[in-house]
Amino acid sequence: MERKKINIVWLKRDLRTQDHAALYAAEYEVTPYLIIYLIEPTIISYPDTSLRHLQFQYHSILQMQSKLEAANQKVHILYAEAINAFTYLNEHFEIQKVFSYQESGIKLTFNRDLAVKIFLKENNIIWTEFQRDGILRGIKNRTGWDKAWYQMAHSEQFKNIFSESKSIEFVNPFPLAGEFEQELNKYPREYQPAGEDFGQKYLQTFTNHRAANYSRHISKPLESRTSCSRLSPYLAWGNLSIKQVYQALESAKNSGKYKRPIDNAITRLHWHCHFIQKFETECEYETRFLNAAYNQVVWNKNDEALQAWKEGKTGIPLIDACMRALWQTGWINFRMRAMVVSFLCHHLFLDWRSGVYHLANLFLDYEPGIHYSQFQMQAGTTGINLIRIYNPIKQSQEHDPNGVFIKKWIPELQNVPDKYIHEPWKMPLMEQELANVRIGTEYPAPIIEPEKEIKNNRDKIWAFRKTKSVKINNPSIVEKHARPRKKSI
Ligand SMILES: Cc1cc2nc3c(=O)[nH]c(=O)nc-3n(C[C@H](O)[C@H](O)[C@H](O)COP(=O)(O)OP(=O)(O)OC[C@H]3O[C@@H](n4cnc5c(N)ncnc54)[C@H](O)[C@@H]3O)c2cc1C
Repeated sequence: MERKKINIVWLKRDLRTQDHAALYAAEYEVTPYLIIYLIEPTIISYPDTSLRHLQFQYHSILQMQSKLEAANQKVHILYAEAINAFTYLNEHFEIQKVFSYQESGIKLTFNRDLAVKIFLKENNIIWTEFQRDGILRGIKNRTGWDKAWYQMAHSEQFKNIFSESKSIEFVNPFPLAGEFEQELNKYPREYQPAGEDFGQKYLQTFTNHRAANYSRHISKPLESRTSCSRLSPYLAWGNLSIKQVYQALESAKNSGKYKRPIDNAITRLHWHCHFIQKFETECEYETRFLNAAYNQVVWNKNDEALQAWKEGKTGIPLIDACMRALWQTGWINFRMRAMVVSFLCHHLFLDWRSGVYHLANLFLDYEPGIHYSQFQMQAGTTGINLIRIYNPIKQSQEHDPNGVFIKKWIPELQNVPDKYIHEPWKMPLMEQELANVRIGTEYPAPIIEPEKEIKNNRDKIWAFRKTKSVKINNPSIVEKHARPRKKSI
């Protein structure tokens, strides 16, 4: 039987229907095309992936379906390894071209892409991979990177259209199992809603009014929940492109409203890509110390403390409130992310790798390029960045002075007076009775004394940082990963 000629659009972290280069290119061709999204068993069973990521992807796709159905188009979700999916598709169709975005992911997805590349080449299929958000493939250093990024950010957006004549009849041979699909379909209301319409809505409300307090509240665990843009999951899964967000922020800024705070948000958008670019150049540091000298450090081993950190049961209220908020909602602000990592690595003195996948799983906005770089920066294992040791008690007093955030996430501490909310273990027994919480019973006693551990570990951390073995690695890290000092634009 003659195989029908088709093209394929392979969606990855680009789950939107507008400003989409791959969908645009496919629509431009005469040949009809199939849109696929792969849920690959090997990839979803890797420790960096969690159900909430898959739920976000699934619901983003549902929203795409609602926009594609008028053109009789659809995203076909194939539960299969990439090679198996492409083999099947190539047996049943004559695939001419595959369009996708480049993926700056972990080694596992990078290797998957290499295998797909070989397969497609052997079968004379052309694979066009578009640049994602200004991330450049194969560059040796960062000269000229900023300039190219701004050019990308200012360039025209793709205005995607979908025509019925380009759709194809297709019966999915790798459907999701019923129970699994039900799991994906459930979407906790505490998470940010998924999909490009919601991304646009968050963008609009940010530029219309939420940006007003952006800079002032950026470090506050409670207030930042509404004053930060909250665009991160939409960017991570590609519900929005960087270009869409950049241009909307620029336009709001030019209208004269919230100029300063919006400028700050634009700077962070640039960081977003700067970090992903680092990871694109060297994805090994998902598991490897950026500065190899840190292999020599003898970290503590303490499974109980690690578990308490993961579950939000350390007895240090702000740390626990952050972890519990993350469990339930998938988001905390930058400062609190940095603080929980600092607590893990500087106070408990545990290897950063013992906690890195845990937070990846909890973050609805998990983006490998940002996550591993930021984690290592906060853990202080890059050798080139300032080491910030956050005191969780001070952070609590400064950024949640009345314990409103703490009490929201730790109901056990509901009745604790302000005076003790940051250090409830200091409450006399009588006060504990009155507050209806016994420390060590209803709420844990602290697993460490933060002040004491900081004292113990600070000198150790800084002394190691100053050793020759750390310094010797620094020039090559700066050369590869740091931006040139002088701004190109
Ligand atoms: C240990 C650690 C791990 C992190 N892991 C992730 C991650 O997996 N995914 C992720 O998107 N962010 C990560 N961040 C960065 C940052 O905390 C989040 O991007 C930010 O809190 C998201 O909230 P927002 O969208 O309201 O950000 P806003 O402050 O409104 O910023 C706008 C956008 O800029 C980008 N951005 C903001 N801050 C940073 C930053 N410090 N570095 C890089 N990009 C930034 C994000 O895309 C964000 O959506 C991590 C930070 C730390 C300390």
